[in-house]
Amino acid sequence: MPTAVELIQRKRDGGRLSPEEIDWLIAGYTAGTVPDYQMSALLMAIFLRGMEPDELTAWTGAMLHSGQVLDLSSVPLPKVDKHSTGGVGDKVSIPLAPMVAACGVAVPMMSGRGLGHTGGTLDKLESIPGFRTGFDPDGFVGVLRRCGLVLAGQSETLVPADRKLYALRDATGTVESIPLIASSIMSKKLAEDLDGLVLDVKFGSGAFMTTVEDARSLATVMVGIGRAHGVRTVAYLTSMDTPLGREVGNANEIRESIEVLKGDGPPDLVEVVFTLGSEMLLLGGVAPDRETARARLEAAVRSGEALERFACVVEAQGGDPRVVEDLDLLPTTDRRHEVVADRSGFLVACDARLVGIAAMRLGAGRERKEDTVDPGVGITLLAKPGDRVEAGQPLASLSYRHTARLHEALGIIEPAFVIGDQPAATGPLVWDRIGP
Ligand code: URA
Repeated sequence: MPTAVELIQRKRDGGRLSPEEIDWLIAGYTAGTVPDYQMSALLMAIFLRGMEPDELTAWTGAMLHSGQVLDLSSVPLPKVDKHSTGGVGDKVSIPLAPMVAACGVAVPMMSGRGLGHTGGTLDKLESIPGFRTGFDPDGFVGVLRRCGLVLAGQSETLVPADRKLYALRDATGTVESIPLIASSIMSKKLAEDLDGLVLDVKFGSGAFMTTVEDARSLATVMVGIGRAHGVRTVAYLTSMDTPLGREVGNANEIRESIEVLKGDGPPDLVEVVFTLGSEMLLLGGVAPDRETARARLEAAVRSGEALERFACVVEAQGGDPRVVEDLDLLPTTDRRHEVVADRSGFLVACDARLVGIAAMRLGAGRERKEDTVDPGVGITLLAKPGDRVEAGQPLASLSYRHTARLHEALGIIEPAFVIGDQPAATGPLVWDRIGP
């Protein structure tokens, strides 16, 4: 085996690493025998030179096998998960997982926390009184067997290499690399023992990738990794210029998710949930075509079965299941402030990034990893791009706890709303599908 220095030099000069060399590097880094300074240099070489598809397959495989891999063979159903690269108001996982579970596909979902302007599914779920998201593998499988879905955090024992590598990337300017992002996401998803995976790769002002071209590159690479590891993987490119739905903030987004499960959600959110959900039923092999898949999801909502699955998972994870009927059990604040239109016309933009930052400033998100979130604060959008608005009409309502934070948030959110004389042409919400 060449030395770590020789491997770094080879990658620096545009050469390739073999699967054995990659296994040795990742195993050594996880065990601490390859030090941070050498891995930092290698990450920068990868950042600048990229990785060939076979190197990336090996790199992801080595990360995946750096820790425990789930064994879901005791769950006698197809297992399909969904992953989103994150956005503002993106609460899709919360109504989607119970709807899909109600149609006979198990959803073993592991999600993350919010950082910066994007929220995290775990923070949203933890706004439900008592809801727990930390499980060992046996507890995780137990909830999955009972409810057909589980909504948990990343298990400590899965993919330890990613935790170390992500922290190192964060400190070495190597986060924004398509092969490193793709292997980080896919190693964690492949460790879930899935039959299928649907990726929601968002692009736009509120997303990690701002252009559709970058989102397409990331999606194509992730679909390739999934396939190379034998997991049927499909990606959707969806727009994130405007927050998804009308609610931004933790308890706010649980309320809106429950509305979707009751058949009352806002059209943009519902469209993404049904598009991704239909694909999950197809990948799980429980529907022969897209139309049937959609009809089954609609029936699961109409019959109340999807809402029952959600109540099941809330209870199984320690939360108060009465929340599905009594939204007043969710945390809130009694202090509200409205942002109003300064002129009449058409709302042409509601910038997702600015709305996300404003919500974070209210306390709904974290500026630094150590920050705590306030589950009760948030933003309700009262108008969306395309709507006709009159001067003085409320555009958004901010629920806040501290006046100083409200003022900071107002300075950010007010410019997010742009009013013009004509309705602006907006592109489709679901832009493209990448997969077999
Ligand atoms: N999400 C991840 O899990 N990893 C990355 O590198 C980026 C986003």
